[in-house]
Amino acid sequence: MEVYDTFSFQRRLDGVLDRIAAAAARAGRDPADVRLVAVSKTFPPEAIDAALRAGVSILGENRVQEALAKAALCGSAEWHLVGRLQRNKVRHALSLFTTIHSVDTIPLLHDIARVQEETGQRPKLLLEVNVAGESSKIGFNPKTVRDAVREALALGGLDLVGLMTVPPWVPEPEMSRRHFRALRELRDALQDETGAALPELSMGMSGDFEVAVEEGATFVRIGTALFGKRASWKPQRSLDTDDFV
Ligand SMILES: *Cc1c(COP(=O)(O)O)cnc(C)c1O
Repeated sequence: MEVYDTFSFQRRLDGVLDRIAAAAARAGRDPADVRLVAVSKTFPPEAIDAALRAGVSILGENRVQEALAKAALCGSAEWHLVGRLQRNKVRHALSLFTTIHSVDTIPLLHDIARVQEETGQRPKLLLEVNVAGESSKIGFNPKTVRDAVREALALGGLDLVGLMTVPPWVPEPEMSRRHFRALRELRDALQDETGAALPELSMGMSGDFEVAVEEGATFVRIGTALFGKRASWKPQRSLDTDDFV
């Protein structure tokens, strides 16, 4: 079994931060403009506490239930949702996540707007774009995302801040460059066309974050390069589906 100690986490974290800084320097960017989301999905609370002690401040999770259970067990942190949000879990999601990277449908925007109105919780939102147009993937395509930005503006009150992508798997990080560049160019075009301010680009994972930083990422979402091989932690009790309304 993996032992999660602060010392080994710190070593991996320093390595990742050095690589982010070097990639930012190559692109003439300030490394402070790139924030690290440590993707802790599947890893146990001990691993998360080691990460927090090492100085991580943002945790990324892809399941609402798993994140809520861990948040109750771990030290305080900023929790970001990076995985798909089911419409019946919006209320629970807003109770924890301060940023949702993975808004992928217009009905979901409406649900978030409604719950936000009721609770006053106002997460930052990124629209997930399937830049390569893979039919199997979730997310808006480069055409439908325009409607989503317009809808978000029309709904009013939503804190839309940018775009996110998970490009197709490729054997070489360099092969993801055109997808990251496409997301940045799409963001630039959407800002021009709609007048929305979309400063955030969430792109780059363990295998390709340096290329993403070179292409303008402001959030990189990194799991295995920090925590090691994916684990299988699950909450003891799954919340009743009735809880999710
Ligand atoms: C799991 C996951 C990550 C992290 O992936 P690694 O390859 O472990 O760095 C990033 N983004 C999303 C959306 C994920 O689901």
